[in-house]
Amino acid sequence: MSAQVAVVGSYNQDHVWVADRLPAPGETRLGRYHTGPGGKGFNQAVAAARLGAQTLFIGALGEDPAGEHAMDLAREYHLAMRVQRPPGEATGSAAVIVDGQGRNQIVVAPGANAVLSERFVRGQAEQLRAAHVVLTQLEVNTAAVETALALARSAGRITILNPAPVDAGVSAIALSDTDILTPNETEFAAVLAAQRGGPVAGEGVATLGDDELHALCRRLGVPTVVVTLGARGCFVSHADGQLRGDEATHYRIAGEAVEAIDTTGAGDAFNGALAAALALHPGRPFADAVRLANRYAALSTERPGAALAMPTRAEFQARYG
Ligand code: ADP
Repeated sequence: MSAQVAVVGSYNQDHVWVADRLPAPGETRLGRYHTGPGGKGFNQAVAAARLGAQTLFIGALGEDPAGEHAMDLAREYHLAMRVQRPPGEATGSAAVIVDGQGRNQIVVAPGANAVLSERFVRGQAEQLRAAHVVLTQLEVNTAAVETALALARSAGRITILNPAPVDAGVSAIALSDTDILTPNETEFAAVLAAQRGGPVAGEGVATLGDDELHALCRRLGVPTVVVTLGARGCFVSHADGQLRGDEATHYRIAGEAVEAIDTTGAGDAFNGALAAALALHPGRPFADAVRLANRYAALSTERPGAALAMPTRAEFQARYG
C-alpha cells in the first residue's frame, strides 16, 4: 500500500543532557543524561504515524548499532522505511542540552544523513509520486531534498519544506518546488535574508503586524508560508487565489496554554502533524490542519525527548477531543 505521508529526511541518535540552565561558553554545569531517537526527518515521520497516517521514512543510516536501533524503532512506530546504508558512514548523532525552562542548544554530526544520494531518492520515485503529502527538511544532502520535492511536485502532490536547520541555507530550486514552507521565526528571517528580502532580525518578526508579516512571506514566492512562533502559535500566509479552502489570505493561530518542559522537536511535531492532517482530511480547510498541528506541537512540549515525545492519536484526542 502506498504511504499517505512520505518524509525524506534525517535520523539522529540524540544524546540529551538536562541542566538547570544552558552553560555559558567555557562553563560546566551538572545535569542528567538520556539518549533516544531524533533527527528532524524521523521525528516528523513518527509524529505523522502516531496521528494515524500511513507514513514512509526515506533516509540514510550507518551500518552500526545506532542504525539497527533505528530500524527496530521504525517497526515499533509502524513506519515504513526506505533506507540507504552508505558504507563507512556513521548514523547521525546530536548533542542536545536542555534547561529548566525548556530551552535548548544542539550540535548535530550528520554522518550518513549528509550523503543520502539523489540517486537513492530517485529510486523511490514511485512512492514519492503516490504519497498524498511529501515532507522534507534541510538536515540531509540538498540534492536529495530537491529531488524529492521535484518528483512529488511533478505528480501534483502537496510538498512541504521545513527549512531547518537554517545554517544549511535553502536552495532556490527547493523553494521553487515547495507548496508549503514552514520556518520558525529565526529560519523565516534567514530565508528572507538569503532571498531578495534583505536582512530582518529574528526578534523583529515578533514585533511585526499581520499585514507586514504577510507581505514578507509573499516575497518568498512559495504559495503558502506557515511561520511557527513558539508559545505564540503560528502565522499563515497564502498567495492570492491559492487559499487551500481558507477564507483569508493570512491569519494567526494563538499558542495553546501548556506546561512546556522540553521544546526539542516542537517544530517537528508541528510539521509531522500538519502533513498527517492534510493527508488524512484532504477536503478540509487548511486552517483545520494548522490548528491540529499547533495543538499537537504544544502537547509534545509537555514531554521530554524528540521522537519519543510525540503523542499518539489517542493521547491527542484525550486532551483536545
Ligand atoms: P521550532 O521547534 O522549530 O523552533 P517553534 O518554537 O516555533 O519551532 O515551535 C513550533 C510549534 O510548537 C509552535 O508553532 C507551537 O505550535 C508549538 N509550541 C512550541 N513551543 C510552545 C509552547 N511553549 N507553548 C505552546 N506551544 C508551543
